[in-house]
Amino acid sequence: MEVTVIGSSISWTDRPASCYALGKDILIDCGEGTSKYLEKNGIDFLKVKHIFITHIHSDHCVSLLQFLCQHIQYNPAEKYKTLTIYGPKNFKKFLTDMASLFKVLFENDDIEKYINIVEIDDFSKTIEIDGYTVTMHELKHGRLVDIGYVFNDGKTKFGFSGDCTYTPNLDNFVNECDVMFLECCGESTTENHLGYDWYSKFQNENLDKTFFAIHCINKVFFNAEELKINVVDTGDRIVIENNKITKNGKNIIKNI
Ligand SMILES: [Zn+2]
Ligand SMILES: [Zn+2]
Repeated sequence: MEVTVIGSSISWTDRPASCYALGKDILIDCGEGTSKYLEKNGIDFLKVKHIFITHIHSDHCVSLLQFLCQHIQYNPAEKYKTLTIYGPKNFKKFLTDMASLFKVLFENDDIEKYINIVEIDDFSKTIEIDGYTVTMHELKHGRLVDIGYVFNDGKTKFGFSGDCTYTPNLDNFVNECDVMFLECCGESTTENHLGYDWYSKFQNENLDKTFFAIHCINKVFFNAEELKINVVDTGDRIVIENNKITKNGKNIIKNI
């Protein structure tokens, strides 16, 4: 399993916003600037087949508009419907409204003529794609639902939390993962975001698991060593092979 970090930040830093590539054809989130940073990190947007959106905030999904336009412009018609986008309830309306901004491209047609849209509202179901079983966890991000996704290739379970506060469902998410990108936004947890208090508690109580801190404010990101957390940024590659995890080809972090 290989994950390339396209972006891991929040909106208001100069580090790229949320997007992670699992292999070459699966993305988790599509924050601002994703198209630009995909190319820089060796991911061809035309080969992306699945995009999983954690929640509808700009730093996680605003580049979908650019993605949709590129998909229609550069794909021959016979290749339409090769892209599936997954998101929370009411996601179809959100994407349709977004696409309507570019009526010329979409010819006022139903957007589902071009792409597949899957709304996640039954968290007891799983999704099977390209050698992965995907489970979803209903997490809470202020007033919004945030979807924590876990990808299982039969050997390792790799999770992406998105933005979330602490709820008992987050325990289930952490328990399921072997390796995870978990939010560590600021110093303390709020009703919108997980902070260092809960992040470090999870990390200290689950020494058999590997944690990567994401969605960090600069104060957390640039003090990662002192805080004893693994942060990731654009261009980082996490590879899980032969029960070992490496970051950027050399640093073996932990056996799993
Ligand atoms: Zn965010
Ligand atoms: Zn958010």
